[in-house]
Amino acid sequence: MADQRQCRLCKQPISGRADKIFCSATCKSQYHIKLNKVTMNASERIDKILHRNRSILFEIIGKNTSQKRIERQELDAKKFNWQYITHYHINTHNKLVNYIYDFSWMIFSDQKVLIKKVG
Ligand SMILES: [Zn+2]
Repeated sequence: MADQRQCRLCKQPISGRADKIFCSATCKSQYHIKLNKVTMNASERIDKILHRNRSILFEIIGKNTSQKRIERQELDAKKFNWQYITHYHINTHNKLVNYIYDFSWMIFSDQKVLIKKVG
């Protein structure tokens, strides 16, 4: 029995090239529009937290400074969300460097935080 391929979006039968997933260019673009929307809705809450975190770091460090050491409480007072970062790396001193887009922050045992503009 030949398998009848269906369009991923509208479920109409597809003919033509074996790797075709959509019946038409319209279905293909509609599918990607829907997929983007789903991704946008799902990630919006976390994006907001990350954007807020970046704004807090930006406000503290200012436009003309590339790094600043502050007290941890200063970030707590601004409701900085410590759990949300965009990426991290372990530096040559075996210390965890947390990134929020183009900023990084490191926390030390004396509860001081070093913020750097890296971008
Ligand atoms: Zn279709």
